[in-house]
Amino acid sequence: MSQQRKAVALISGGLDSMLAAKTILEQGVHVEGINFFTGFCVEGHTHAIRARDKAKPKRNNSLWVAEQLGINLHIIDVIEEYKDVLINPKHGYGANMNPCLDCKIFMVNKAKQWIAENGFDFIITGEVIGQRPMSQRKETMPIVARESGADDLLLRPLCAKNLPATLPEREGWVDREKLYGFSGRSRKPQMALAEQYGFSEYAQPAGGCCFLTDASYSAKLVDLWRARDNNRAYDLDDIMLLKVGRHIRPRPNFKMIVAREEGEGRFLQGYRKEFMMMSSASHNGPLVLIDGSPSDEDLQLAAAITARYGQGRDAEQVDIRITGKDGSARTIQVRPMPADQIPEAWFV
Ligand code: SF4
Repeated sequence: MSQQRKAVALISGGLDSMLAAKTILEQGVHVEGINFFTGFCVEGHTHAIRARDKAKPKRNNSLWVAEQLGINLHIIDVIEEYKDVLINPKHGYGANMNPCLDCKIFMVNKAKQWIAENGFDFIITGEVIGQRPMSQRKETMPIVARESGADDLLLRPLCAKNLPATLPEREGWVDREKLYGFSGRSRKPQMALAEQYGFSEYAQPAGGCCFLTDASYSAKLVDLWRARDNNRAYDLDDIMLLKVGRHIRPRPNFKMIVAREEGEGRFLQGYRKEFMMMSSASHNGPLVLIDGSPSDEDLQLAAAITARYGQGRDAEQVDIRITGKDGSARTIQVRPMPADQIPEAWFV
């Protein structure tokens, strides 16, 4: 009896990787999933915070996909190692701050290490030629395979028929005839295959699998680095905070993060020991976190902006409480800044 082969599937939580894993499972291969946590992943975080997203399921899509497939999932924290991918991408960025090609190479390389350590035979991804402009092109497929070191241990079941046969195909571990030849941006073949497999529900990421493909998120990241003299070092809190609130930078030396709703206010409260906070004491209003080193004059300006976002926006005067990182508090009185006096350019 031939030995059952083992494959690890990169599971992003989207439909393509789900279908790729299912295709190989159907061929009797033992499949387990792997998901790399970079800190930028579009997962339950913001849905869990904002009331606006209440209808969205608060779930980790990669775990959910693994459950649908009935496979084990290994979630691997790569936050530290990923910094170099984001800060120094050899192949550059996509439309925003997404280093998709380097990211793919990095993840497949990590998967290659993982299969060597865990006695697995090959790697599966849900890539489709032409699906994404930066990382999923005919020319980039061999680059990912080569630069990750995975070479022909990397099988893309959804577009395998458009590519040279990989080792699992040549060795007969999988039947090439039962793989697919999808290409291009259309999602129709994937949707038809999903239907064939009986998957009626699946996540549909619009731009990609992480926040780095988002223009507004990328602008905030660039602003953060610029404000730190182009020092691109970051930690997990930095990148989480970019997902929350309205970001306003009235002066180069400080930024305000204004909670847009109660859930965000509660989330920002968790940072009270790391940042100065502002809120209206005389009216209802949002919690505001102050990042940077504002002067007393800057704090007056920030307080006037804070007042503008509260219910005292039309009042003559609003009391703004300023709470330091050590918990010490003082209150100042300000006239709310009219909305039309807050320049567009201040919004990050
Ligand atoms: S969208 Fe994000 S996670 Fe996906 S390949 Fe691009 S950089 Fe990597």
